[in-house]
Amino acid sequence: MRIGEILSAKPDHGVVTISPEAGVRELIALLAEHNIGALIVSTDGTRIEGIVSERDVVRHLHSDGTVINNVVAAIMTEGVETCAPDDDLDTVMATMTARRFRHVPVLDGDRLVGIISIGDVVKHKIGQLEFERDQLDSYLHQS
Ligand code: AMP
Repeated sequence: MRIGEILSAKPDHGVVTISPEAGVRELIALLAEHNIGALIVSTDGTRIEGIVSERDVVRHLHSDGTVINNVVAAIMTEGVETCAPDDDLDTVMATMTARRFRHVPVLDGDRLVGIISIGDVVKHKIGQLEFERDQLDSYLHQS
């Protein structure tokens, strides 16, 4: 299964971005408003400068309670691991597991076209297992 197929199956595959100069309070508000776990950090909405997840907020709050007054650039991760629509889902899943993150932005050339989360991966895997179980079930009951 290709990443592009997973993206097409998502009801809304728009990517929510935030400027590195935005405040951490605004970041938290956007995560809550969109019910998501991470935002792409980008000044112009297309070029990726970083990624920031709820985990970054929690980790920084632990070491510095005043981080809430800081800007996103202070807590984001630079050097973002990305994937392409043609990439294989299992490869991206292996990267998520090995690098211990739950979000991978999807780039078509230079263009940011979506984000794959561990939730999307699990949803797809469950669908695949259900399909295989139904196939085996009908095979058994036909014979
Ligand atoms: P997550 O599990 O996605 O909430 O992220 C865990 C940590 O990895 C946080 O510090 C994120 O900023 C970072 N992170 C998340 N996704 C990526 C990615 N695709 N590339 C690099 N770092 C990431």
